[in-house]
Amino acid sequence: MRKKIKLSLLLAAKVLGVFWLCRLKYRKYTRILCYHGFSYVDEHQFRPKLFMHPTTFSKRLDWLAKSQYSIVSLDDVVDGKKTASNQVVLTMDDGWSGTFELVYADLLRHHFPLMLYVTSYYAEKQIPVLNVALAYLLWKTEKITLHFDIPELGISKNYQLSSINRSVLVREICRFIDQLKNPAERLEILLKIATLLDVSLKADNRLMFRLLNVTELTALQKINVDLQLHTHRHCSPIEIKSFDRELEENRNWLSQFKNIAELRHFCYPSGEYSPAHLPLLKANGIKTATTTHIGLMAPAADHLQIKRILDGEDMELIELEAELCGFSSLMRSILKTGGH
Ligand SMILES: [Zn+2]
Repeated sequence: MRKKIKLSLLLAAKVLGVFWLCRLKYRKYTRILCYHGFSYVDEHQFRPKLFMHPTTFSKRLDWLAKSQYSIVSLDDVVDGKKTASNQVVLTMDDGWSGTFELVYADLLRHHFPLMLYVTSYYAEKQIPVLNVALAYLLWKTEKITLHFDIPELGISKNYQLSSINRSVLVREICRFIDQLKNPAERLEILLKIATLLDVSLKADNRLMFRLLNVTELTALQKINVDLQLHTHRHCSPIEIKSFDRELEENRNWLSQFKNIAELRHFCYPSGEYSPAHLPLLKANGIKTATTTHIGLMAPAADHLQIKRILDGEDMELIELEAELCGFSSLMRSILKTGGH
């Protein structure tokens, strides 16, 4: 009901020309759009911000192509070489396999510049991202108990799924599986748990929750996709040495695709960062770093704390339009000021 009222208000604002006025007011601002992965089966219902239905994404790109917005690269924005009004930058986080297996044709058709922030650990291992795959299995299963064992570690566990906190359970099982050094063994246990829960991790024989491999990343690079940094293990440790190592391992892995000097853009994993990270990024020659703070990027914004607009399966087109023109940001700031 609340959503319906919100959508009606947005539609009224659009019809009355308020979106148009906002676009004029914020024409010098840049809109950084953020996407993640795509849905092979029903992942868009499991985590609508993390996985979008490929058809929704395709429609979004078609809409952007016809819209008043100019799609530019982040390099264009920060170098100030090309300046258009109402600029939009497309970014995508993590490097999920669906970017190649499900939406390659759409990316090719539009050939928009896209910045893809790649986290390298799972890209290298080529097994599903463990915590996300486990959370999906537990979300989807209709089983009420889970019994599994890992004999080589002497682990044998019985869980009543109806009375247990699923995120705690995901963390616990991840801890067990992570003790196995060999990725093939980890995959074997994960698939065993999937069978026990009677949920498939395969769609048309393609493994779900996998990150892009070297061949797929290379193919994407050829269609205007710029591979950039997102840490090796998808984390932002507060401890500077660990953070530095994350950056370095990520950069070394990505150096098989391009010169290290060209890896100058970074995205904070899960949007987590602290002020202590900023000088370290600078020292590493990083030009931009994107966050998950919502909003438009002002012309004078700090390039190491860039705001973005997170699109998702749970967002109607008119909500996205309201974010892009700046109307939603304006409303949020008015409501915030009014609250004080
Ligand atoms: Zn991420």
